[in-house]
Formats: sequence, C-alpha cells, structure tokens
Amino acid sequence: MNFHVMTLFPDMITDGLNTSITGRAIKAGVMSVTAHDIRDYSNDKHLKVDDYPYGGGAGMVMRAAPVCDCYEDIVRSIGKRPRVIYMTPQGYTFTQSMAEELAQEDNLVILCGHYEGIDERALENIVTDYVSIGDYVLTGGELPAMVVIDTVSRLVPGVLNNEESAETESFSDGLLEYPQYTRPADYNGKAVPEVLLSGHHANIEKWRHEKSLERTKKFRPDLYEAYIKEHPEESR
Ligand code: SAM
Repeated sequence: MNFHVMTLFPDMITDGLNTSITGRAIKAGVMSVTAHDIRDYSNDKHLKVDDYPYGGGAGMVMRAAPVCDCYEDIVRSIGKRPRVIYMTPQGYTFTQSMAEELAQEDNLVILCGHYEGIDERALENIVTDYVSIGDYVLTGGELPAMVVIDTVSRLVPGVLNNEESAETESFSDGLLEYPQYTRPADYNGKAVPEVLLSGHHANIEKWRHEKSLERTKKFRPDLYEAYIKEHPEESR
C-alpha cells in the first residue's frame, strides 16, 4: 500500500508516521508514505499557495493550481489516477468499515487542507472521497490524514505482527473489545477475573463476548442497538 499525502507541512506527516508500527512497516517496505509539498507547485515568487476568498470573509483559501499540479505529478509518477481522499470536517465520518474498504487499494492520495480550506474547483477536479474524523474543526488536514493512514495501515497484510492482530479489536464485529489484563494476577488487591486464569478457552470466549456486549451497551448504545438488530437472541 502506497500512501501519497498532499500537504503544506510534509514534516508533520513524515515525523508522525516514521515511528512505532507504521515506521517499522515503512522500513520493511510493506507500505510507503510519501509527503508531497504542495508549495513546490506554487508559481508565485514567494511560494504563496493561498489567496483571499472571493466574496470576502475571514481567512485565506488554498489556490486550485498548486493542488491540481501536485496531484498530476503523483499521477505521472505512479501511472494511474488513484482515489483522492480530501480530509474535511464536511465529509463522511471515518469508520473502521471505511478503513477496511480503503485498505483494498494499492495507492491512496490524501489531500490535507489548511486555512479556510481549498478552492472548490480543485476539489471538483480531483477528489473522489470526502472524509472527516469527527464533528470538530482542526487547523489542518495533517492530523486527520495520519489518523486515516494509521488505521488503514493496520489492515494491510504484513503491517501488524501476530501479537498485534487487528482481528478481535473494537468495531471488528460491531462491538467494543472486552477488558484486557496482564501480569500480575493481583494488582494492589484487584484480582484478574478468575475465568481468564482458568485456561478454559470456551469459557474465556464466552466471558469476553459478554463483557463486549456489556460495555458496548454502556458506552455505545448506538452500536449495541445495531448489533442486537442483527442478533436479537443476544439482547440483555
Ligand atoms: N472552513 C472549513 C469548514 O468550515 O469546513 C474548515 C477548514 S479547517 C480550519 C482547515 C483544514 O483542516 C480543512 O481543509 C481540512 O483539511 C482539515 N480539517 C479540519 N477539521 C477536520 C476534520 N474534523 N476532519 C478532517 N479534516 C479536518
């Protein structure tokens, strides 16, 4: 999987993703992240990429030409027109199932806005997907892009090792994950639930599933309702 991030702050992307699990996967060649500096495509002598909004109003707007020229350069370098995800608070809210779908692509372009956003004509020309990470407004699309890349990359074969498997995690079956414990078995008088020490796999699975249902009902009633619609026999 090759991620191509179009940004005015490429260091944010590379510094953020070249560490930990994504950094290891990049080093191993399982995935790549290339940050493309939109400013390199400015034809302005001061390398300006933004301008005042037509119609007035606060803030600046990123100009269409540097954004589109940057994208066309990516297209030339990989020889096809990949999906372009614009990170925007106006987009569809990012979910695990969206991540699963994006993980099927070979190449993904992620476009980060800044200031008041990007000239609509650039978006109309190149964007295929509008994605938000939640109902709040950040200063730029770089953190949202990293959220998407981190989430999608965990689903790319070879990025996680066995101990880090993504299979049983929250949202993978529509429920939140059960509580986790590690050694010691007693921490300041708080004991690990007996069943987890029993070695009885069927009972452990049953306990974990019950805990998943319990906490999904408590913390995410919306997910719980959807799950119970599909599995009415598990209602509690
Ligand atoms: N004026 C825009 C609006 O009201 O929709 C917000 C612009 S925001 C200050 C600057 C950039 O940050 C956006 O172009 C987008 O790339 C990114 N951004 C901000 N909040 C975001 C969110 N919740 N999800 C994804 N991207 C976001």
